[in-house]
Amino acid sequence: MTRATTRAVRAGLVSDRHHNAVVPPIHLSATYAFPAFGQKGAYDYGRSGNPTRDLLAGAIADLEGGAGAVVTATGMAAVTLVLQLVPSGGRVVAPHDCYGGTHRLLAAFARRGLIDVAFVDQRDLTAVERALAVPTRLLWIESPSNPLLRLTDIAAVARLGRAAGALVAADNTFLSPALQRPLALGADIVVHSTTKYLNGHSDVVGGAVVARDTTLHQELAWWANCLGVSGAPFDSFLTLRGLRTLHVRIRQHVENAQAVAALLLEHPAVGQVHYPGIGAMVSFTLKRGVRAVAAFLDGLEHFTLAESLGGVESLVAHPATMTHASMDAETRAHAGIGDDLLRLSIGIEAAEDLVADLRAALDRVAAR
Ligand code: PLP
Repeated sequence: MTRATTRAVRAGLVSDRHHNAVVPPIHLSATYAFPAFGQKGAYDYGRSGNPTRDLLAGAIADLEGGAGAVVTATGMAAVTLVLQLVPSGGRVVAPHDCYGGTHRLLAAFARRGLIDVAFVDQRDLTAVERALAVPTRLLWIESPSNPLLRLTDIAAVARLGRAAGALVAADNTFLSPALQRPLALGADIVVHSTTKYLNGHSDVVGGAVVARDTTLHQELAWWANCLGVSGAPFDSFLTLRGLRTLHVRIRQHVENAQAVAALLLEHPAVGQVHYPGIGAMVSFTLKRGVRAVAAFLDGLEHFTLAESLGGVESLVAHPATMTHASMDAETRAHAGIGDDLLRLSIGIEAAEDLVADLRAALDRVAAR
């Protein structure tokens, strides 16, 4: 079989039957003509189906090894979509340190009585098993976790979930199928914020849900149309364009992240370093704690203080006041997300420039 790198580059090329365009065109039309009374073509209405969006869905499903994918307007729309598979009051088991937005949605749905949620530390298989002792519809996995980059043994946790009769969904946003394929490890569903590595250029907000089998894919597609969470054609076009370079970008992201992690591990101003050895997200604390955060950030040249991750440009975030501000302080503390934690999304710039910039910032902190 052709390699994933090649399939990502070539997804949907020369599929235009009218002009043989090499790059597939964008179909922006909101509606489609019926060939005749009572006859519906492949497409009828843009919320239900769109050729550009379908090309992207096919490419993502292929890279994840799924039967099909649904492309959504945002990553949170993808999470919302998967939650439709949980019946009223059904139980969801999720990581205690998942992405703040996912945590907020699960907690809000639970408060309204739509679901029952148990947040557990999924590094502890006994805790997962205990949580699954109560009949569970959905086991949510996020690995590596955001922002502490904790790794969950997806195969082991998925085995427990399936044995308990739960659907297993894994948020693969942080690694992408270039580095991790949860379906091959036993998950039923993969979720992405395509805003991150899949698009890779910080110019689209989008999401995707990949299903292991056709029945599940059809159910998800039905809900996406019903709820109206489908992704836009132009966003799909851009994301497919971004996806073509996924593997080459990821290679550079990871090489740069390893250089950055090596610097952080040896610099005396750094406290803890969270880098699982895979991917390009690195978080760390400063020995001088929260008081040193501003000194570190002021003067950084190649890292922009901003939310999000996975773009070609390097970013720095302060999770407690940014990405995870929607978690209350107690929940953050329980998840281990301190006010002194900084998170880096390592881009594809020259590693030497990133390392020099961070070294200068850390030296400034140490000199204070
Ligand atoms: N899942 C993870 C792991 C994320 O980091 C994010 C966003 O940061 C989301 C889901 C939500 O995606 P979006 O911001 O595209 O709605």
